[in-house]
Amino acid sequence: MASNNEQQNQAGRHQEVGHKSLLQSDELYQYILETSVYPREPEPMKELRELTAKHPWNIMTTSADEGQFLNMILKLMNAKNTMEIGVYTGYSLLATALALPDDGKILAMDINRENYELGLPVIQKAGVAHKIDFKEGPALPVLDQMIAEGKYHGTFDFIFVDADKDNYLNYHKRLIELVKVGGVIGYDNTLWNGSVVAPPDAPLRKYVKYYRDFVMELNKALPADPRIEICMLPVGDGITLCRRIK
Ligand code: SAM
Ligand code: CA
Repeated sequence: MASNNEQQNQAGRHQEVGHKSLLQSDELYQYILETSVYPREPEPMKELRELTAKHPWNIMTTSADEGQFLNMILKLMNAKNTMEIGVYTGYSLLATALALPDDGKILAMDINRENYELGLPVIQKAGVAHKIDFKEGPALPVLDQMIAEGKYHGTFDFIFVDADKDNYLNYHKRLIELVKVGGVIGYDNTLWNGSVVAPPDAPLRKYVKYYRDFVMELNKALPADPRIEICMLPVGDGITLCRRIK
């Protein structure tokens, strides 16, 4: 296992905005971006990525390789009805909106509308804003309302969760009802900057340290849930795909 110093070096290595790759070298990650991601990145996503790079919280954005992955998986699944929890300026949202058919839908939730509105003109210009139903506010009460109404049970093809990590298990309890059998929930940042393997006394940044226990709890709970099949991928900061099987 890597020493504390090595882990810290790794966390600080990469220059790409939003990049939290767990690959062995900068060069390898750059190679992926330059040979396979950037040459095929849709123009609006490039524009949104560059706009987001100027924002003070740009560390939160989805990386370009993960955006490409989301776009691909949604197309492979023929996804039509989707949900996203945690929008920020909308990079993963745009990757999703571009992948869905013209009558596809995304219920997108974030407590911060301002950041969504920064990216919105790019999404509009891309001609995909009509697929998005943005709700400002905490996601949990919206999910509770949807469950109480009943008609949303088993209706979502794909759900991307990229918000408050301390609520992921609370989201899971609800989302497992809302996603259809055969549908997929993707939990983002499940490798949490590599901190899931850091020793308990490792000098981690405060927010990394705070959320780490919640991420690790989720990472224990998902494999134990018989209602899903799972696959944890080291894309971006780690994404765990959960396919509902019952
Ligand atoms: N998926 C985004 C992208 O591609 O740029 C990044 C999302 S960012 C990591 C996390 C977002 O979750 C923030 O914009 C934050 O405002 C939002 N958030 C935090 N708590 C939330 C909650 N309880 N409900 C909904 N959104 C929340
Ligand atoms: Ca994320």
